[in-house]
Amino acid sequence: MDVSHILDSLNEPQRNAVASPANNLLVLAGAGSGKTRVLVHRIAWLLQAEQASPFSILAVTFTNKAAREMRGRIESLLDQSFNGMWVGTFHGLAHRLLRSHWREAGLVQDFQILDSDDQFRLIKRINRSMQIDEDKWPAKQCQWYINSQKDEGLRAANIEHFDDGYTKTMLDIYRAYEEACNRGGMVDFGEILLRAHELWLHNPQILAHYQKRFRHILVDEFQDTNAIQYAWLRVLAGTDNQLMVVGDDDQSIYGWRGARIENIQQFNIDFPGAEILRLEQNYRSTAIILQAANKLIANNQGRLGKTLWTEDGEGETISLYEAFNEQDEARFIVDRLQDWFGAGNRRSDSAILYRSNAQSRELEDALLRVGMPYRIYGGHRFYERLEIKNALSYLRLLVNRDDDTAVERIINVPTRGIGGRTLELVRSLARSENCSLWQACVRSVNESHLTARAANAVLAFLELIDALDTACDGLQLHEKTEHIIANSGLVQHHEKEGGEKARARIENLEELVTAASNFDDVTIYAENLEQTQAETAAEFEPDSKAFLAAFLDQAALDAGDTQAQESEDAVQLMTLHSAKGLEFELVFMAGMEEGLFPHKMSMNNISGLEEERRLCYVGITRAKKKLYFSHAESRRLHGDVNLCRPSRFIREIPDELVDEIRLKTTISHIPSRPDRNSRGLGRRIGGRIEVPETELSLGQRVAHGKFGEGVILNYEGQGPNARVQVNFDAAGSKWLVLSYAKLQVLA
Ligand code: ATP
Ligand code: MG
Repeated sequence: MDVSHILDSLNEPQRNAVASPANNLLVLAGAGSGKTRVLVHRIAWLLQAEQASPFSILAVTFTNKAAREMRGRIESLLDQSFNGMWVGTFHGLAHRLLRSHWREAGLVQDFQILDSDDQFRLIKRINRSMQIDEDKWPAKQCQWYINSQKDEGLRAANIEHFDDGYTKTMLDIYRAYEEACNRGGMVDFGEILLRAHELWLHNPQILAHYQKRFRHILVDEFQDTNAIQYAWLRVLAGTDNQLMVVGDDDQSIYGWRGARIENIQQFNIDFPGAEILRLEQNYRSTAIILQAANKLIANNQGRLGKTLWTEDGEGETISLYEAFNEQDEARFIVDRLQDWFGAGNRRSDSAILYRSNAQSRELEDALLRVGMPYRIYGGHRFYERLEIKNALSYLRLLVNRDDDTAVERIINVPTRGIGGRTLELVRSLARSENCSLWQACVRSVNESHLTARAANAVLAFLELIDALDTACDGLQLHEKTEHIIANSGLVQHHEKEGGEKARARIENLEELVTAASNFDDVTIYAENLEQTQAETAAEFEPDSKAFLAAFLDQAALDAGDTQAQESEDAVQLMTLHSAKGLEFELVFMAGMEEGLFPHKMSMNNISGLEEERRLCYVGITRAKKKLYFSHAESRRLHGDVNLCRPSRFIREIPDELVDEIRLKTTISHIPSRPDRNSRGLGRRIGGRIEVPETELSLGQRVAHGKFGEGVILNYEGQGPNARVQVNFDAAGSKWLVLSYAKLQVLA
């Protein structure tokens, strides 16, 4: 049989890996060196050259998307489909086992899967029934505890509390949670892995069956496996089967979720005599991008170490843009994307990567403004996120109490003791009286339709909204937003949850305040356009209800704007974590600032910082041809403007690889000057040009006849339409039509 085509498109070390006669194999290699490619070709090789049965192959990767791609690539390499082959994620494969062997796994046949939200709610219920103080032992923290134990393969019965108060309480909750799950026939994500592992341990005949079946086990992204995943693999591989793992210690980015780089060393101990192969040629990136990545990661200690080179040319230097603020940053990126797309490239070959989900809003706004399709991976668009919708619902009730959707959403968020039964009563009252939910709430309290406790809870809700409304009266839009977020209990609600996700939610809420302050600006500018008489910006009332309503409309429109279709050519937006394993011609890494990236929660301890640096390495190595870094001198967070320092990661890359772009954006308001030879010229030269010909730039100090002195923050449009946003020392921020504003440039 001719199998040469499987090896043809590989380099020598890759070929050695693919056709290796070794039983166990560790391919340890840097980004873009063809690890995933080797894995795919190895499977094709086993099927074709070694006549392995598809049934004997088990391949594990990190995401369902990667698994689908892997199967597709094998099938197209060999031009046939292989149904018996198991290709999937750890969770997917373990789940499949449990469905087949539910009885032996100690489950009921129709066991249910609890997703993370379900799990959280269950723990909450348990804590309540155990009368555990939610403030002292937030359910989110208990959930985190339980999941980390499961990731380590530990059940409550295996854990010793050594009289430690914290562990004792956590164990009580863990035990009660296990009982509840067993009673209800439910398994959470961690449980799926743990049960699948126990299935091996408790059922030697089942284990023997699968050991006999899966002669070939192959694992991608091995550096991100956790303890229980590794144990499951090790047992399945036993002593006779072939285990191939590929990974990169420099790309381990899930330490916070229990992943253990040590598994790489452990593999060498558990599988003595395993062949260790290194791939050193990178096929993805230009020499400059690769060198930047290598230099950066060299700052981490205790690496396994590797060299990575490319035959590819130097390529373009990395461009670094120091933006004036986050809007300037987004505008810069979108401008570059438009150039790129205009030059005939596909949008989907470009990606904007960022550290925190909250950063996407400014980028989304800029993309929407120019109508460029984009797609966000691994996360909702800003205005569709749960926490944002909740906060907006509070604001909506200030505008209109009869907004039933808003009432439904927040009547018991955060929880205030309004249960399903009460809500059902209110709903049916609204139906029978043909009134809004809000009115039904009022009536049910006044007319004693409810138990005293329920009535109190509903009354508390009504009073809260009224109190918020009163307090917000006369506040500016962003102040209203800030007040609502702080006093609705939403922040505390998420703080109690704890953990990475909750932190992201709070960041998003803070970002909403920023969105609201920017909205002041946008509207004023729109109004300015109508009234070209200008200077009347001060007449607008950002403290009015109409203004709030306009903001809510805008948010609803933004959310309703459906994402680019799967098939549509769209710019890719995602966090650095979701970018793992992917590659793009053009990559932007936005928000390269201390505190944002490295993230402030991780930058103060070595291991946290090193994980951030690996994340940066992952980001850089996604780029094939061109990489941009950007950071902003100031960034508005939580409505406040913060001065930002560039990320240390930028400094860790040698200067000669990076070109600083200093647009120092100048704003030209000179009406698009006709060609000197054109006929228009005479007319213009004949009359006096009203507009002074000074060029302004972001950050410049200026004076205005009415508003006094201030600093230029932002601009929109060119020529006669140019508008600038000035932050006046006394009058605050205003958008002004430049040609009318008669700004005087100060030194
Ligand atoms: P990561 O660490 O980011 O997951 P990786 O090591 O898995 O990267 P691959 O994604 O397999 O790398 O390969 C990177 C790119 O290089 C892919 O586009 C792949 O097709 C290409 N490539 C790998 N090896 C070769 C080769 N020998 N010849 C041509 N192209 C190759
Ligand atoms: Mg890969």
